[in-house]
Amino acid sequence: MSSISYYCYFMSTRQKRYFLTEEEIPTRWYNIQADMPNKPLPPLNPVTHEPMKAEDFYPLFSKAVSDQELNTTDAWIDIPEEVRDMYKYYRSTPLVRAYGLEEALGTPAHIYFKNESVSPVGSHKLNSALPQAYYCKKEGVTNITTETGAGQWGAALSYAAKVFGLEAAVYQVKISYEQKPYRRSIMQTYGAQVTASPSMSTRAGKDVLTKDPNNQGSLGTAISEAVELARMTPNCKYVLGSVLNHVALHQTIIGLEAEKQMKMAGEYPDVVIGCFGGGSNFAGISFPFMRHTLLEGKKTRYIAAEPASCPKLTRGVFQYDFGDLSGLTPLLPMYTLGHDFMPANIHAGGLRYHGAGMIISQLMKDGYMEAVDIQQLDSFDAGVLFAKAEGIVPAPESCHAIAATIREAMKCKETGEEKVILFNLSGHGLIDMAAYDQYFSGSLQNYEASDELIKRNTDKLDKII
Ligand SMILES: *Cc1c(COP(=O)(O)O)cnc(C)c1O
Repeated sequence: MSSISYYCYFMSTRQKRYFLTEEEIPTRWYNIQADMPNKPLPPLNPVTHEPMKAEDFYPLFSKAVSDQELNTTDAWIDIPEEVRDMYKYYRSTPLVRAYGLEEALGTPAHIYFKNESVSPVGSHKLNSALPQAYYCKKEGVTNITTETGAGQWGAALSYAAKVFGLEAAVYQVKISYEQKPYRRSIMQTYGAQVTASPSMSTRAGKDVLTKDPNNQGSLGTAISEAVELARMTPNCKYVLGSVLNHVALHQTIIGLEAEKQMKMAGEYPDVVIGCFGGGSNFAGISFPFMRHTLLEGKKTRYIAAEPASCPKLTRGVFQYDFGDLSGLTPLLPMYTLGHDFMPANIHAGGLRYHGAGMIISQLMKDGYMEAVDIQQLDSFDAGVLFAKAEGIVPAPESCHAIAATIREAMKCKETGEEKVILFNLSGHGLIDMAAYDQYFSGSLQNYEASDELIKRNTDKLDKII
C-alpha cells in the first residue's frame, strides 16, 4: 500500500460524515405536543392563576410564536421559505461517526454526534433566532430585544436581526460583559446595541443600581430590563432563546436531519444525549426520535446532561414557577430549583438556569426520558478527550453531553454491547478558551448544590400542582 492510499484509508475509517442535499433538508418542524399522551400543563397568569391564551402573549412576543407556543394539535409546522433559505447557509450540519473517540475509549459502542458548532455563530442557537427574527419582521416589528449571559444567544439573535433588517438591543449580564468581551464584540460586529445589565436605561436597572451601584447583574435582572424595553417601545418585541415550547419546536431541525443521516449510516440510536440548560438543544436532537417512542413504542433512551451545580431535572421539584428571577413572567409548569436559585458561577454559562422547559418537564414526569448530573471537572476532562480525538474544541456546555456519552460508552465496554449512541454537539468552545486555561492551571473546581439550599428555595413555591 502506498503511503497516500494508506493515509486515505486511515482518514476514512477514522471519521465519517453524513450530509443531506438541499432537497433533503426538512421543510417542517416537529411539534411533539401533538403526540404527547399528557399535554404540558398551561402557563398561568401570575396574578389570577387563569390559564394563559396565545393572545395573552401577543403584546410581548410575535403572534406566530405565541400561537406555536400553545399549539397542541398540529404535529408538523411549515418552516417559512425565507428561514429555509437562511438555514441553507449552514445546514445540513454534519452527522459524524466518532471513530476517533470510540478508539480513544476502546468501546464497542458506535458513537455519532450532530455537529451544530458549524453555524456562523458557533452554536445551535441560530436555528431559533432566525425564525423568531423573521416572524417579527413579517408582522411589522422594527426592534427586538433580549438578554444574554455568556453571549451565545445574544450573538445568534444579533446576526438574525441583521439578516432580516431589524434593530437588536441586547442586555448582557454585566459580569459576562466584562469577562467575556469577545462575544460582546461579535454582537457589535453584527450591529447590535449591547448594554451591560443592570443599566440606567430602564427602571428595573435603575432600581437595582440605586440600591447597589456595584451590582454585577444576573439573567433575572437582564430579562426584566429587556421585557421593560419591549413594553415601553413601540414596534419592539422580546425574544427568548431557550425554555419555551416554540424554541424547542424550531430546534427540531437538528433531530429531523439526524434521523435522515442516521438512515444513511444504516443505524438507529439506542441512546440519544444532549446537554441541558433550558432544554432547547436537547429537545432539538431528541424529539424527532422520541416521536417513534410515543407512536410506535420504540425503545430508545433519552438522556439530558445537566451540571451538578444546577440540577433541576435530577433534584428539582415539578411545580409552577416563574421563568425569571424577578417574577415578571407567567407561571410555568416545570422542574425547578426555585426562580431565585443562584447557581455557582460555572463556565457552562448556558446551563445555569433554574428551570426546565414545559414540554421536557412533562415528558420527564411521564418517564419518557432520564437526566444525569455532571461535575464541572468531569465535563472538561471529557471535552479535552473529545478535542484530542475528533479535533473540535467543544463549548463548556456541550462538554456535559460528551461526559454523559463517555459514561454510556464505558458501560458498553464492560458489557461488550455494541450500542448506538447519538449526542448533540451544541457548540464549539473557541471563544471560551479562558475557561480551558483555568482548567489546565488547576484552578477550576466542582460545585454541588446542597440539599438544604434546594429545599429552602423550592419550599417557598406556591403549591399550585
Ligand atoms: C445556550 C447553550 C446551551 C444550553 O441551552 P439549551 O436551551 O438547554 O440548549 C447549550 N449549549 C450551547 C453551546 C449553548 O449556547
